[in-house]
Amino acid sequence: MKIQSLLIFGLWGLLGFHTSLDAQPQVIAHRGYWQCDGSAQNSLASLKAADRIGAFGSECDIYLCADGELMVFHDPDITIDRQKISLENSSSAILKNYPLKNGETMPSFDQYLATLKQCRTTRLIIELKSIALTEARQTELARKTLDKVRQAGLEDRVEYIAFSLYLCQELHRLDPQAQVAYLNGDLSPRQIKKRGLTGLDYHMDVFRSHPRWIRQARKLGLRTNVWTVNETDDLRYFIDQQVDYISTDQPERLQRLLKERLSQ
Ligand code: MG
Repeated sequence: MKIQSLLIFGLWGLLGFHTSLDAQPQVIAHRGYWQCDGSAQNSLASLKAADRIGAFGSECDIYLCADGELMVFHDPDITIDRQKISLENSSSAILKNYPLKNGETMPSFDQYLATLKQCRTTRLIIELKSIALTEARQTELARKTLDKVRQAGLEDRVEYIAFSLYLCQELHRLDPQAQVAYLNGDLSPRQIKKRGLTGLDYHMDVFRSHPRWIRQARKLGLRTNVWTVNETDDLRYFIDQQVDYISTDQPERLQRLLKERLSQ
């Protein structure tokens, strides 16, 4: 009986040990790795920097412009000559000259994918933005994004996220193999699963107020991603919660904390 208990305990310990190793969250550089020399949010340099430090993923934001082109930028509008211009209502010809803080100009999605191809291992987490797009335009955005990724042969290197449930469902409908996570925080893991999506990418307050969702998601085979976690205490909390991905503006800080945790 004693030997049996020891064996069971030993096996449990071994499994537990493996679980804690396997369950280390992956590092996602939010808007690329931009808090380093020569970088800026959503710049090509930020994608290369995320790859250079070995971040598992680099997140970016994309818009469908009035002329049907896809551009990479976070804010919904820019100011040129004191005029506010909405990205969704302007042509990419105007946007592509807009300067970023590191001296680059606003990249197109084509340029971003070409840069991803040169990266060693990092994956691209693509946030599809929809501020005032009709459903037909959202479908166009989903279709164009998937087409460009397919043409570049990068299907295995990207994942998709969006606040719009319609956009998420269109991505899934157009490519049932695509990894699609919902950002808006108002659906439970079961509701996400029912819609055929593959993950929840929620603000940290949502996961804090629904602590069971992380485990429920894992049981359903869904991936969990939390944003945007920068402070050491918060990073430690979500490392302990064993989410799949942590999106952060401090990817090197998170890497250090993960290393520390492994050596404990
Ligand atoms: Mg984003």
